[in-house]
Amino acid sequence: MARDWRASVPLTERQELVRRSIREVCADFDDEYWRTCDREGEYPHEFVDELAANDWLGILVPEAYGGVGMGTPEAVVMMEEIAGSGGGFAAAQAVHGGVYNTVPIVNYADESLKQRLLPDVASGEARIQAFGLTEPDAGSDSTAMTTRAERDSAEETSADPTEATASADGDRYVVDGEKVWTSRVEASDYLVLLARTTPRDEVEKRTEGISMFLVDLDDAMADGLEIEPIPKTASAAVPAYQLYFDGVSVPAENLIGEEGRGFYQVLDGLNEERLVIAAECLGLGEVALERGIEYAREREVFGGPIGANQAIQHPLAEAYADLHAAKSVIYRAADRLDDLDREAAGARANVAKYLAAEAAFAAADAAVQTHGGYGVAREYDVERYFREARLTRLVPITQQLALNYLGERVLGLPRSY
Ligand SMILES: Cc1cc2nc3c(=O)[nH]c(=O)nc-3n(C[C@H](O)[C@H](O)[C@H](O)COP(=O)(O)OP(=O)(O)OC[C@H]3O[C@@H](n4cnc5c(N)ncnc54)[C@H](O)[C@@H]3O)c2cc1C
Repeated sequence: MARDWRASVPLTERQELVRRSIREVCADFDDEYWRTCDREGEYPHEFVDELAANDWLGILVPEAYGGVGMGTPEAVVMMEEIAGSGGGFAAAQAVHGGVYNTVPIVNYADESLKQRLLPDVASGEARIQAFGLTEPDAGSDSTAMTTRAERDSAEETSADPTEATASADGDRYVVDGEKVWTSRVEASDYLVLLARTTPRDEVEKRTEGISMFLVDLDDAMADGLEIEPIPKTASAAVPAYQLYFDGVSVPAENLIGEEGRGFYQVLDGLNEERLVIAAECLGLGEVALERGIEYAREREVFGGPIGANQAIQHPLAEAYADLHAAKSVIYRAADRLDDLDREAAGARANVAKYLAAEAAFAAADAAVQTHGGYGVAREYDVERYFREARLTRLVPITQQLALNYLGERVLGLPRSY
């Protein structure tokens, strides 16, 4: 596989180590594996288990809790490699939650919750793959969420003490509402849930009154949580679900951080996560472009390789230039994130995500066109990359919302909401 054209950026020793190790794991999962997962809508359990067995789900968990103790500069390498190995955005998304949902736990959970959970997460025994923020009427405007978590202490509950034994001290929250597009639920032991503990019309700022919880999915399902897969096309190997909470108990000790501050806790890790998403888009664009280049070299039409035609060559070269630019922004930002204030970090993270998703789309589109009719044949994979590249313009925030950030926060233009 020709990787030598890929834009290179200087890597630290740790980043080199991550690249080598992840490349080794990915080498055992060939195109047919990813093709089958996509076609059958099957989650890539074997791949994720292999990464977990090599401790990579704990890349961001501190060593004190049994993790690898690395940070964003290494996570971008990990995710670019995974996507770029051939697995595409779906492969990276299959593990993304497991890696990133540890961050609020590390930063905000009580010490007892960390001790209870993180060593098992780091060893791959427990998975926190699912993150529930979006609701049917709260996507881009996520603070419009209405899912409610109401505190219900033991003294206030019924005479039957067994009803309120969800936690050691009897305190619990009772959750009612709906979430949508929650990914990886069936591949997860826990869900990080955002829910309103104070209704929106009772808080001064809409970002207040939202709390974060760790939900044990087995317990929640036993208590009436219902889940329904959402049939979809792109990234079919990583299913997403609609979740229905109807009086589901969550022990009070599973509150992550401070009640009412959950949204701020999400914002806290957002820039790092957005950069890593950008790296996933980058890897996807690179593998799509690689397939385009290979085909352009080999396919002969009218007696010569199609890659000699500039109508074929230039879109591939343009995609290369776009990917190169995105890569420079991602790696430089990942290196410097700790030295930047939140606004500056936000600007770089949004630039990176925007550029990388556009570059991935340009690369996948050029690869499909290069393949002619075979561009839509599953066996050449580029149609799968194209579907995924289209998705990267929608998630985890849409390109418009990334541009809103830049327009409003960097350029100082008026807000649209
Ligand atoms: C495959 C998949 C997996 C996902 N996984 C998860 C997950 O695990 N957890 C989770 O919580 N969520 C998840 N999401 C949800 C995702 O984050 C949302 O879909 C996304 O934030 C957009 O929200 P929406 O779909 O409701 O679009 P809407 O908010 O309804 O927006 C519709 C369109 O209007 C545009 N728009 C809206 N307001 C403005 C404005 N002010 N300026 C310019 N344009 C605007 C948007 O950009 C978009 O193009 C997932 C989504 C998908 C598709």
